[in-house]
Amino acid sequence: MALVVQKYGGSSVSDAHSIKRVAKRIAATKRAGNDVVVVVSAMGDTTDELLDLAGQITPLPPQRELDILLTSGERISMSLLAMAITNLGVKAKSFTGQQAGLMTDAVHGRARLVDVVPHRIRETVEKGQVAIVAGFQGVSSTNDVTTLGRGGSDTTAVALAAGLDADVCEIYTDVDGVFTADPRIVPSARKIDRVTYEEMLELAASGAKVLALRAVEYARRYDVPVHVRSSFSNTTGTLVTGTHGDAIDPNAPAAEQEETQMEAPIISGVAHDRSEAKITVVGVPDKPGTAARIFEVVAGAGANIDMIVQNVSAAHTGLTDISFTLPHADSPGTLAALNALQEELGFASLQYDDQIGKLSLVGAGMKSHPGVSARLFGALRDAGINIEMISTSEIRISVVTREDALDDAVRAIHTAFDLDSADGEAVVYAGTGR
Ligand code: ADP
Ligand code: ASP
Ligand code: MG
Repeated sequence: MALVVQKYGGSSVSDAHSIKRVAKRIAATKRAGNDVVVVVSAMGDTTDELLDLAGQITPLPPQRELDILLTSGERISMSLLAMAITNLGVKAKSFTGQQAGLMTDAVHGRARLVDVVPHRIRETVEKGQVAIVAGFQGVSSTNDVTTLGRGGSDTTAVALAAGLDADVCEIYTDVDGVFTADPRIVPSARKIDRVTYEEMLELAASGAKVLALRAVEYARRYDVPVHVRSSFSNTTGTLVTGTHGDAIDPNAPAAEQEETQMEAPIISGVAHDRSEAKITVVGVPDKPGTAARIFEVVAGAGANIDMIVQNVSAAHTGLTDISFTLPHADSPGTLAALNALQEELGFASLQYDDQIGKLSLVGAGMKSHPGVSARLFGALRDAGINIEMISTSEIRISVVTREDALDDAVRAIHTAFDLDSADGEAVVYAGTGR
């Protein structure tokens, strides 16, 4: 008998009919002789709708209240799902994150798990019942309800799988697995059979929201095998594990291990991200300490910065421009903090640009293959797309473009690296892509 943790995303439980459909899958897994723990997201776009609603009340809602509001979405789906499973003659009980023992720090909106003590979940499973857990939420040491950041139900699922020592963590979504690009933008994207934690981390960090970044970090730390698949089909999805193939034996001779790794592709995929904006600090004195001071102020505003570019200073003025990207949501506070210190920082003006898009080419095989950047830049040139910023890591190259050119850029890069599938279009079963 296996212990299976299954997570169903919002698009898999968007209405009563879908909840009943998912309940059937869960009941069948249980009847097949498995112990089953289910993590569920809020129905459809509920979380976005609740955020919109709060925005109609006040532009800057208190984070604690926002967390209480947002966690209500998962309470609706967990209870309805428990009802639907019970209706099928299988005993099921739902639990909030707090009841399930998901302990977090007190950083509302992006709380981190500090402990997982799933006693009640274990008890429920031992009684032969299905435990349903509300995703995306936990409780702080001061007993306040917290949320784990967008896409956080994936993290709940992986954390419970680790805490319960489950055999597998299945992430059910609205596409057949992890693809070489978002199938909503690139219909010719190819499903990836296996991907390593390392590559999945880069894809998730670069915007591939099919798996939340924190969930991948957690899976890697606790070595939880994750199977990303569709709740609308029975197709095998993508296995996210430590290696590309299970043939790797750590005790085997190095040459043999290398051979297995050689099957790994050079490129895993192309990710994109529309959630960032660009701030340019214009006319800053080009002298030691300037960047340090600017980024101290930016950090003090709580912004999570991504790319940074500093131009060569103009010889006759000794002034330079520094640009950086950050999440849209962090921009108002960061602009205000910089403006407040304009005199001390000595810059001329600030420019704000929220019409940017970022694409990232990811692949562990890149580090040993020269010419990847040249091919990427060449493909963008041929598509007539201008590059505004570039950043690289050992296994990733990211570029910023105009937002309205992003989809074309992703498709051009996907084709240039021979990632297009020969056998038909990728299926997107549901969801709004929001
Ligand atoms: P869920 O509601 O199940 O949590 P999400 O919307 O969070 O689903 O994630 C699934 C979506 O992720 C897909 O519908 C797809 O549009 C998007 N996506 C982005 N990049 C990828 C990728 N590389 N592979 C698969 N899906 C991707
Ligand atoms: N409902 C939350 C969100 O939309 C968590 C999740 O779906 O994973 O971000
Ligand atoms: Mg998700």
